Amino acid sequence: MTNHGLQVTIFHKIINREIPADIVYEDEHMIAFRDIAPQAPVHVLFVPKQDFATLNDVPEASALVIGRLATAAARYAKAQGFADRGYRIVMNCNEDGGQTVFQIHLHLLAGAPLGHFGVPS
Ligand code: 5GP
Repeated sequence: MTNHGLQVTIFHKIINREIPADIVYEDEHMIAFRDIAPQAPVHVLFVPKQDFATLNDVPEASALVIGRLATAAARYAKAQGFADRGYRIVMNCNEDGGQTVFQIHLHLLAGAPLGHFGVPS
C-alpha cells in the first residue's frame, strides 16, 4: 500500500489562500470549490480542514468528517436547484481509485445525465 503520509497538498494551499480557487462554500470544518478540470457541468470538490491523506486513513471515530462532506454536498445541490434532478458524489482512493491529490475530498458532479461508471480504463 502506498503511504502518502501527511504532506502539504494543493488543497491545503487553497484552504490557506496561498493559491486562488473558485470557492463556493466554507465553514469551520470544510471548504468547497470548483474543480479546475470539470468532468461535468457542475464539478465541486468538498475538502475537510482536518488532514487525512486517503479514505483509508479515516478512523471510525472521525466518520463525521465524511458525513459532513456528503450532507454539505446535498445542501449545495438543493440550494443550487439540481438536487431533484440528481447528482453523483465520488471519493477516489489511491492509485486504482484515481486519486491524485492526497488530502481527502468528495467530488460533486451534476448538471447532465452522467451515465454509468466503474468501467476499468
Ligand atoms: P482526485 O483525482 O484526487 O480524486 O481529484 C483531484 C481533483 O483536483 C481533480 O479532479 C483535479 O482536476 C482537481 N485539482 C487539481 N489541482 C487543482 C487546483 O489547483 N485547483 C482546483 N480547483 N482543482 C484542482
